[in-house]
Amino acid sequence: MVTFNFFTMKNFVFLTFLAAALLIVSSCANSNFYREFAFSSVKNNVCKTLDDKVVIYAIFVDSKYTGVWSEYDMNSTSDSICKAINWLEQKAAEDSVDLKISLEIHKASNGRIPIKQEFKRKTLSATLYDQKYIDAERELNKWSDEIAAIAGKSLPRDKNQSTKTRNNLRDTERLIARLRDIHKTDNIALLYFVNNYFKDELSLALNTDHDKNVEYGVISFKNPAVIAHEFLHLFGAMDMYVSSLDKKIREKKIKLQMNKRFPNEVMTNSPKSLDDLMISDFTKYLIGWDKELSSDF
Ligand SMILES: [Zn+2]
Repeated sequence: MVTFNFFTMKNFVFLTFLAAALLIVSSCANSNFYREFAFSSVKNNVCKTLDDKVVIYAIFVDSKYTGVWSEYDMNSTSDSICKAINWLEQKAAEDSVDLKISLEIHKASNGRIPIKQEFKRKTLSATLYDQKYIDAERELNKWSDEIAAIAGKSLPRDKNQSTKTRNNLRDTERLIARLRDIHKTDNIALLYFVNNYFKDELSLALNTDHDKNVEYGVISFKNPAVIAHEFLHLFGAMDMYVSSLDKKIREKKIKLQMNKRFPNEVMTNSPKSLDDLMISDFTKYLIGWDKELSSDF
């Protein structure tokens, strides 16, 4: 029986990309084989390098099938986000990276925190597994745009007429552009939280390896390790585990090797608590903490 635990099915666009990249490098000599590559998630899209000032903009989403947020649930999830933030800042400090992450939780002008929005196919997992990934991504981008349009109405209006904004911005982009303006930083990490704590679901990050649409995460669990994992995806980190979506034996083999090499890496699907996890040199390179891959790769 397949159980979808908290990391099981995430972010397979990354896996596909990683697999493709590794497929090419795998024919090279073992040493330095990652060094030949420019990874498409590195310095890409909204969240380029994980340093300086970062704002997590968290939107709690209510829906009929994934559940509604109670005040208790929102508070405990906020605590988990703060634990993830503290861990990330601590890891950055250990690497002499200047990083300050702040959390802003979306709240409407009337004080209401969650935004109600249904998945077209009821749940996130159905959205991903009942159709091709490209269609799922399109559907989720529309879902995100509709939420962002509502969220954007609660932000203070832009009175700066000189701001040159493209007229064809989608609503998720428009929301992020406005938040960048308000917070005076490019690093806006948009995370949607759906309340699936007691159900089998998944979390994922979208649009992380291209810039056709802005990247964001959808998180179904309160686990700080999941939150840190998805957050790191937005800045270019890749999965280091095999999911049931990986079909090719060679890709699976390479990912198993990665998993074996970095058993405590936060980008694996380890059930360990965040305090027992680490950020490998490979991920440090992807998120911009190391300018070059170490000679071990
Ligand atoms: Zn992942």
